[in-house]
Parts: sequence; structure tokens; C-alpha cells
Amino acid sequence: DARVAGIASSIRVIPDFPKPGIMFQDITTLLLDPKAFRDTIDLFVERYKDQGITVVAGVEARGFIFGPPIALAIGAKFVPLRKPKKLPGEVISEEYSLEYGTDKIEMHVGAVEDNDRALVVDDLIATGGTLCAAVNLLERVGAKVVECACVIELPELKGRDKLGDRPVFVLVKAD
Ligand code: 5GP
Repeated sequence: DARVAGIASSIRVIPDFPKPGIMFQDITTLLLDPKAFRDTIDLFVERYKDQGITVVAGVEARGFIFGPPIALAIGAKFVPLRKPKKLPGEVISEEYSLEYGTDKIEMHVGAVEDNDRALVVDDLIATGGTLCAAVNLLERVGAKVVECACVIELPELKGRDKLGDRPVFVLVKAD
């Protein structure tokens, strides 16, 4: 799709952020380009509008940027998956490992039900740990995860392998 090249070129790469050796994919420059931002949302909406998706689950923080416009366009509810201790209601949480230590994401109990069909949205898949935790939360409450959608993939980190047979769809592969 011709729109993908414009999206790819709108993403800025910042070397050595947040630490030496990391090439950080910065999507804030995509957001500064209304055509690239619109095309990003449109490509996801075209893919998901007829798949019976009832919930879009966005991963904090950048899944909160791309998830809601997709949810509105396809007529699904939006559910935020948040860092620990942010959600005020009863939560279920899922821990996952980082390079050093662990992290956790949480979801409100009752936000997703066992008859829901879910799309998980984040900006980027690296090792896949974050998406895997998100999928686990949704599956623990009985939802069917139809797909995970990200703007960017770092294929060298083989994040897809961690997701097993859950499909991952991305617009841009970064090297
Ligand atoms: P993973 O769990 O797949 O290793 O890392 C993905 C998570 O880290 C996502 O929530 C994503 O927002 C964040 N992340 C890791 N590296 C980058 C990067 O280069 N750019 C952006 N925008 N996010 C990143």
C-alpha cells in the first residue's frame, strides 16, 4: 500500500534513547503529520471493520493514541491496559519480564467479557513481552484475541515468536 511509505518516513529514529545502543522509534513525529496519522488509522480500520471486533484494548501509553480512533471507527469499546496502580476499580494484573526485572499491566474487572472479540493495539512490538501480557489478560477473562496490531515491528527481536499462534499485524518493519 502506497500509504505505508509515508507512514514509515514520518517516524523519527533517535539513537541512544533511553540508553546507549538503543535506536528509539519516535512516533511523535508521525502524529505531527496529519496525513500519516490519518493513513495509519485508516489502514487499521480497513483491516478490522468487518471482523466482529467488540473491544479494542490499548496498551499504556502509546496504545492510548492509536487505539481509541480505531475503536470509534469500527464501533467497538475501548479498554485501557494500564501500568500498575493507575486504575481505580478492581483489576486483574499480569506480570512480564524485562531485560532487568519485571513489569506489570492491569485491566479493570468487568471491562472485557467472555463473549468479547478483541484487538490489542500498541505502537511497537520489540521482544513481544508487553503484547503477550496484554493477550494473557484478555484470554484470562475468556475473550477471543483476534489479532495484535502495531505501527512498528523490530523483527530482529523476534517478538512474534512469543505470541505463538496469535497473529500480529504491523504497518512498518524497522531494522
Ligand atoms: P516489548 O515488550 O515488545 O519488548 O516492547 C514493546 C513496548 O515497549 C511497547 O509498549 C512500546 O511502546 C515500547 N517500546 C520499546 N522500544 C520502543 C521504541 O523504539 N519506540 C517506541 N515508540 N516504543 C518502544
